[in-house]
Amino acid sequence: MNLPPQIQVLQRGWLSSNNILIDNGDDCVLIDSGYHTHAAQTLLLLQHALGGKPLARLINTHCHSDHIGGNAAVQRAHGCRTSVPVGEAPAIAAWDEAALMLRFTGQSAERFGYDDTIAAGERLQLGGLEWEALAAPGHDPHALMFYAPAARILISGDALWENGFGLIFQELFGQAGGYAGVRATLEAISRLDLATVIPGHGAPFDGVARSLASAFQRLDAFERDPAKLARHGLKLMLSFSLMIHGRIAIAELPRFFADRPIYEHVNQRFLHLPEAELSAYLVRDLERLGALKIEDGWLVAA
Ligand SMILES: [Zn+2]
Repeated sequence: MNLPPQIQVLQRGWLSSNNILIDNGDDCVLIDSGYHTHAAQTLLLLQHALGGKPLARLINTHCHSDHIGGNAAVQRAHGCRTSVPVGEAPAIAAWDEAALMLRFTGQSAERFGYDDTIAAGERLQLGGLEWEALAAPGHDPHALMFYAPAARILISGDALWENGFGLIFQELFGQAGGYAGVRATLEAISRLDLATVIPGHGAPFDGVARSLASAFQRLDAFERDPAKLARHGLKLMLSFSLMIHGRIAIAELPRFFADRPIYEHVNQRFLHLPEAELSAYLVRDLERLGALKIEDGWLVAA
């Protein structure tokens, strides 16, 4: 993948969150800060990637815990200006754990404050390139993407991955508009002149037309059969948790699900399975997909 030298993508394993570091010459800008539980590792990666330059600014594509989890630690270490999408600002200012979906999903992030906001349509100068902030509703109604036409690069957050896109939470929560948001976002991406997408999860990729085609197919399939979205969503949530914690004791699964109301909520709305059956289904299917292994009574991230 040929990215301009002033753009570095700090990538860990799949589902771990990318950090994108853009070098302005005299200082640098970081886009997204990863998981709270990975903050120490993020600081080390960042320090190395900065090569002694100051970090002037931290920007978030959206405010899910896997993109803002390291914000507080990065601010403490670098004292950088922090910019969040304008639609996310009220939830961040009030640290509204419901709006940030922290309590509902059992995820965590350290509270942080911001200095200013970015709105769709705004232009930013980063790394000697002009970037346009674009609205990316669907996965998160307030998310932004950043597009550099001269370099034909899109920083997509969770709006488009090489194989898929972030969960459509709105639809899982029974709020309309999620499917339409994803469709509008994918259509907006298809209208861009693009060589490379830098996603929030996974390696940067070209072959954008192929990724878009499969994303539209996936969206169609979810819309036709929302139970499919529900099953996919809960498997993704459990994979995220396994990645954050490394392992979960099988005996602890009932409590694990009880602590994360999203499972029961989605199950009641779409799947109607007895709790033990839901748990067995999720484990069996993730094992089949190679996402987890069972070892001595533990689920272990594969
Ligand atoms: Zn997200």
